[in-house]
Amino acid sequence: MSEPHTGGCHCGQLRYAFNAPLQDIAHCHCSICRRTSGGIVTTWLTVPQARFRWIQGAPSAYLSAPGCVRYFCGRCGCQLTLHTQLSPDSLDITVASLDHPERAPAERHIWVKSRLPWLRLDPQLPEEDEEIM
Ligand SMILES: [Zn+2]
Ligand SMILES: [Zn+2]
Repeated sequence: MSEPHTGGCHCGQLRYAFNAPLQDIAHCHCSICRRTSGGIVTTWLTVPQARFRWIQGAPSAYLSAPGCVRYFCGRCGCQLTLHTQLSPDSLDITVASLDHPERAPAERHIWVKSRLPWLRLDPQLPEEDEEIM
C-alpha cells in the first residue's frame, strides 16, 4: 500500500486525500479541458474512486459533457477532479492540485488531435489521438 497523497485548491477551501499509486498520468489536450481549466493542457492522474476522499470542504460540480462531471472550488475556481460514466469506478485528479506534483510525471499524451500546434511538451511520451481507456 502506498503512502496517502494529498492536494487541494489555491484558496484552501477544498482538500483531498487518496491512497493509491501515482500512475496512469496523462497530459490531456482536449478543448474541454482547456475551457474548463484556463490552461493549454491539463494533466490528469487516475485512481480508484474508492481510494479518494474529500477531507475538507465540498466541491462545486460542472457537467462538461454527458456523463462527465468536473469538480472545482466554487471560491477560487481550481479544477480538482473529474468523474466519467465511461469508467465509473475511477476518478481523475489534476496533477497540478497535488501537494507534490513533482512526484507525478506524465506517462502519455491523450487527445493530441486537439493539441495546440505550437505546444512542445514531453515529446518523448507516447501519444493517443483521443483516449484509449
Ligand atoms: Zn479554492
Ligand atoms: Zn481533456
